[in-house]
Amino acid sequence: MLLHSFAVLFFLCLVQLALCAEDYYKILGVDKQATEKQLKSAYRQLSKKFHPDKNPGDETAHEKFVQVSEAYDVLSDSETRQIYDRYGHDGVKQHKNGGGGGGHDPFDLFSRFFGGHGHFGRSSREPRGHNVEVKVGISLRDFYNGATSEFQWNRQHICEACEGSGSADGQVETCSTCGGHGVRIVKQQLAPGMFQQMQMRCDACGGRGKSIKHKCPVCNGQRVERKPTTVSLKVERGAARDSKIVYENEADESPDWVAGDLIVTLTEKEPAPEDNPDHVDGVYFRRKGDDLYWTEILSLREAWMGDWTRNLTHLDSHVVRLGRKRGQVVQSGQVETIAGEGMPKWHEEGESVYHKHEFGNLYITYEVVLPDQMDKKMEKEFWDLWEKWRGKKGVDLHKDSGRPESAPVRDEL
Ligand SMILES: [Zn+2]
Ligand SMILES: [Zn+2]
Repeated sequence: MLLHSFAVLFFLCLVQLALCAEDYYKILGVDKQATEKQLKSAYRQLSKKFHPDKNPGDETAHEKFVQVSEAYDVLSDSETRQIYDRYGHDGVKQHKNGGGGGGHDPFDLFSRFFGGHGHFGRSSREPRGHNVEVKVGISLRDFYNGATSEFQWNRQHICEACEGSGSADGQVETCSTCGGHGVRIVKQQLAPGMFQQMQMRCDACGGRGKSIKHKCPVCNGQRVERKPTTVSLKVERGAARDSKIVYENEADESPDWVAGDLIVTLTEKEPAPEDNPDHVDGVYFRRKGDDLYWTEILSLREAWMGDWTRNLTHLDSHVVRLGRKRGQVVQSGQVETIAGEGMPKWHEEGESVYHKHEFGNLYITYEVVLPDQMDKKMEKEFWDLWEKWRGKKGVDLHKDSGRPESAPVRDEL
């Protein structure tokens, strides 16, 4: 009986142990069907977030950094991923003990993604690459509604084939010309018996102090290659025109330095039919800060007599109704303010239940266009009408102004 309880207890302990090691997919925040690309992207994000350089003295962050690295290390290899899927942590452990790859260094993995020696941040003493600035055109519709999209740029990557060594077989030797110093001392004779010593960069190894016999065929020994990279982009509702989004350490990579930042400027695209699938008027709004501007054309009759409506379709397809009742006059150039129909005001907390989205104004400028052609009969009827009222309602300017006798009678209407 006692033995039996021990066995149960022992079993429970085992279960406990198994539960302690957290699921690799969970650590990376992806599901079991995650593609290689999704794994990479998750690793990129989390390894930067928990990197000890960014969280000095934070033990939990450090632990997370190691876990993220371990999870990626196992799942990025199709063989160990299969073993993990079938047999879990223990399976992977046994596989590794059996000689299938030794322990891994989380900083080593990090440097394969971000260059340098696995450390980064402005405080670290590692050399940093240049920041890269990219402009991405965003339609007004996407600024208004918010959008997730992606863009491509030609980024310098650490060559994946040789993992940045430049060597096809992984063999890197010390340069025999310079003995690994990267420089040579050149003696130059200035005059008989007079020499000048100069330090020159070793041209055999390009100053790196290392040489490669068999160059990696993918990067041709350059250790890096330039290829199009897709970056996902989130435009928040009401983001300012020309605002910047910074992707830390996502600029060009090199084994020689830590990647700088990729800085994306959101410029506003010219309105284009392809950005207007719902055929809304809003794409032709003009934006100034949080406000929008629109010009509406009225006919002479509408401007003068009233009794008209317009349905203006906004950037999210909702309708803004314009109009005047009979007898309401609109002057040409008159501006109407419609409160709350401008751009959503950007909020640093983004979409949240704790605040309502506020909007700027929509300003409508009315332009009145007079008909330049008129039906003959219509013209005559108008003429007669004017003549009839001219006599009765005309203003005798001469009487009030003291102008010369010949001053004409001016129409009041
Ligand atoms: Zn290569
Ligand atoms: Zn050399």
